Amino acid sequence: MPPPAYFDYSQSLAAAWDVWSSTVAGRDTVERVARQRLGALQAFACAQSPFYRRLYRGLDAGECALASLPPVTRTELMAHFDEVVTDRDVTRIGLDAFLEDRAAIGTPFLGRYAAWVSSGTTGEPSAWLHDGHALAVYDALQLLRFRSTSVPRVGERFALVGATGNHFAGVASIERLRHLQPWLAGGLRVFSILEPISVLTRTLNDYRPTLLATYATACCELADEQACGRLRIAPREIWSGGECLSDKDCSHIESAFGCRVRNEYGASEFPSIAWQCAHGSLHANTDWVLLEAVDENSRAVPPGTASHTVLLTNLANRVQPLLRCDLGDSITWFEQPCSCGSRLPALRLEGRSDEALVLRTANGQAVKLLPLALTTVLEEQAGVYRFQLRPNGSGRLVLDLDLGCHTDAPRRCRRALLRYLRSQGLANIRLTVRRRALQPHPSSGKLQRVSR
Ligand SMILES: [Zn+2]
Repeated sequence: MPPPAYFDYSQSLAAAWDVWSSTVAGRDTVERVARQRLGALQAFACAQSPFYRRLYRGLDAGECALASLPPVTRTELMAHFDEVVTDRDVTRIGLDAFLEDRAAIGTPFLGRYAAWVSSGTTGEPSAWLHDGHALAVYDALQLLRFRSTSVPRVGERFALVGATGNHFAGVASIERLRHLQPWLAGGLRVFSILEPISVLTRTLNDYRPTLLATYATACCELADEQACGRLRIAPREIWSGGECLSDKDCSHIESAFGCRVRNEYGASEFPSIAWQCAHGSLHANTDWVLLEAVDENSRAVPPGTASHTVLLTNLANRVQPLLRCDLGDSITWFEQPCSCGSRLPALRLEGRSDEALVLRTANGQAVKLLPLALTTVLEEQAGVYRFQLRPNGSGRLVLDLDLGCHTDAPRRCRRALLRYLRSQGLANIRLTVRRRALQPHPSSGKLQRVSR
C-alpha cells in the first residue's frame, strides 16, 4: 500500500471527524478504537519493519497485550533506524543529508514525510519522521482539543518563541503550515530564543502577537519584562509546552499578561500527547497515543503514583512505528475523573527540569539565561549533546563534557558558549570546560544538563 499523501484535504477532514467523534464519545468507545488501532499497528510493524519483526519474534504481536511486548529506547531506534522504518526508500544517510539542509526546514522529506530532530531528556540526538495521516491527526488534535476553547480569529498573529535554525518540531511545524497555507503565513512568526531579551522584547512589541507560544522558562522571563513595562503586548492566550510549568509560575505569567496560560504536553515522537482543559488538568489523547506510566522495570504503576518513566505508543504514524518507546518523562495518572467532564484520562507531568541561570554583567546587572537557549547553543553550534553546565559563583560557568566526547569538543564548546555570553552582555564571565564522567540523576538516570 502506498504511504498516505503528505497533505490532502479529504484526509484532514476524515481525521477531524474522527477526533471530534472520539471527543464526544464515551470512554469505552475511545478504548475500543485505540485497541483496534493498536492491533493494526502491531500487525503493520511486524509485516513492514525488520526491527520490530525481530524484536517480536516468537510473540504473536497481533494478539499480545501491549504490556507484554518489550519496550524500546530512542537509542535503539536510532541505532537501527533503517530497519525500524517501514518505507524502504527511507535511509538514515538520506535523512541526514536532508536534515543538513536548513533551507529545507518544514518541507517534506522525499516529498511525503515531516522530519524533526530532538535531543530528548537523555541528551542523545534523534530524528523522527511522520507521515501525512499522522500529521492530519496531530493537526486535528491541536485544533479540536487543545484549541477547542480558543477558536482561531481573523487577524490572528501567532508568535512562537523557541529554538530555531534546525528541524525542531516547533519551528518545522510552523514552516510546514506556511508552505501548505500561504494565506496564513503573514500571521505566523518564529522568534529565536537565542536573541538577547532586549531584542526579543523589541521585536515582539513591534509584532504585537495575539497568541504567544513558548517554553515555561522563556514565558517566565517574558512575564518579568511585561511586568516591568519593557514588553508591552496583549496576547489573548499564552501556550506553554516543552517544560513543566509550576502553578506559581503560571500565576505569575497570567497576572503579568492578564490572559490565560494553557499548557500542552508534547514530544517530537508525538506532538500533542495531552492538552490542558479549562479546569487545569492535562488530558491525554488516548484515542491516538497510548501512555504507560511504569517503574524502573517497565511495570505499570497505579494511578496517583509518579512513574519512573513513560512508554509511548503512537497509533497514528506508520512510517517510523513507535511501540512502547521510553520517553524518560515522569507522569502521574489522576485517580479521579477531571471535573471538566472530559472522558479522556488526566495526568500530571513532572520533571523536564533544566533550570534558568542568573549571571551578572561587569556592572552588576542580572541576566537570565534560559536552559533551552544554552542547550541549543551547545548542540547546534558545538555539536555536543551530553554535558552538564552550572555556575560556580556569579562570575564563572563550569561545563563538564562526557569523557567520550570528540577531542575537539571542548574548543568548540568554549567558542560557542563565549560567543553566546558576549551576545548577552556577559563577556566578563569566565568559563571552565572539563572532560569528566557526567552525573545522571541517581534514581531517574536522567541527565540534568543545565542546573543552578
Ligand atoms: Zn479536565
